[in-house]
Amino acid sequence: MTENTQVPFYSLTLEDLKQVLKNLGKETFRAQQIFKWVYERRITDPEQMSNLSKDFRSALPGMLSFELPPVLKHLKSIDGTQKFLFDMGSGNSVEAVLIPSEDRLTLCISSEIGCNMACQFCYTGKQKLKRRLTASEIVGQFMQAKDRLAEGQRITNIVFMGMGEPLDNCDEVFKAIEVFQCQWGLGLSRKKITVSTSGLVPEMYRVAKARVRLAVSLNGPNDEIRSLVMPINKRYPLKDLLAECLRYCEETKDKVTFEYVLLKDVTDQVEHARQLVKLTKNIPCKINIIPFNEHPGSGFHRPSDEQVELFHTELMRLGAHVLLRRTMGRDIFAACGQLTSQKPDRPETMDISNSKIGGNNVRSFSGGESRIR
Ligand code: SAH
Ligand code: SF4
Repeated sequence: MTENTQVPFYSLTLEDLKQVLKNLGKETFRAQQIFKWVYERRITDPEQMSNLSKDFRSALPGMLSFELPPVLKHLKSIDGTQKFLFDMGSGNSVEAVLIPSEDRLTLCISSEIGCNMACQFCYTGKQKLKRRLTASEIVGQFMQAKDRLAEGQRITNIVFMGMGEPLDNCDEVFKAIEVFQCQWGLGLSRKKITVSTSGLVPEMYRVAKARVRLAVSLNGPNDEIRSLVMPINKRYPLKDLLAECLRYCEETKDKVTFEYVLLKDVTDQVEHARQLVKLTKNIPCKINIIPFNEHPGSGFHRPSDEQVELFHTELMRLGAHVLLRRTMGRDIFAACGQLTSQKPDRPETMDISNSKIGGNNVRSFSGGESRIR
């Protein structure tokens, strides 16, 4: 078998691998064994897969490739957030962000290089779609981050809130989701995986079908404002979008998370908070308000802390279940909407590409220059 007939391992669901083995006349239960070696033990050298026969071990390198997207940069923020920049070939790169909080470690991953949705406030949206990522490249982001965790650390949650619109790349995204939750592999619960969409209504049923969590970027309290900041609203207006959200809730018995970016004077007025509550009152939901993260040339501004507080308070007063998202990783340009597929031309805090996260060799940031914009 020649090199170019290798199948990228990380693009395979368990069923896919069984099929590959079957086609090669091998026993299909070997698929579980290989998954365990690779995902649990992180052994990718077939010679070390001791429960496989010698013949099988020598055939494996020709069959499967275990390549991962190379890490170009690995940066650590003053607040513990980490950013990974991956080389996706042809001068393109994407980013993933690892966000620690009290009881979880969340990996925010990318689904596309660039994005065609052209949301006016989004840094990724400034670049047209260059290419959709393969399942292997999506799972690869996770594996690279996992391989750099300190002893005892575990990624507990995955959110598709990095670069790109996941529902514009459904086949690969849902294949990756199947890999993430496979009990013989990474074993993440479906409830720990969130797909965030700008509202591609016809594809939203796939989120319900996969029984993972749904987040919807609302970002406007009415059609007029939403269409202004998110052109997709002209194709799928709020009425259709919210009806689909309700269907998701009914099918999964889960809540939807609405993300709502606060843009100074555009979406951050108290009257907008009232409209937002009215709009979503029939849908079991949480509202996640995100103060806009500024980036050069966007034309939008971040509201003052006082205005954010006014908005937040009004939502709570009206009985909404609301979360105010803490902005993480701003100093390494890893906050929501600050991700770009271009090679970095911005200040970067610290490159720890060759260190183990939290390990002894991680340099402390304290005393370093903070570059928060
Ligand atoms: N394409 C998907 C997922 C990626 S965007 C989506 O739109 O949902 C992830 C989140 O970041 C979205 O809720 C989006 O509204 C938010 N976002 C984008 N740019 C931002 C910015 N500059 N500041 C704050 N949030 C931003
Ligand atoms: Fe694409 Fe999401 Fe950015 Fe909109 S907010 S341009 S859908 S990545």
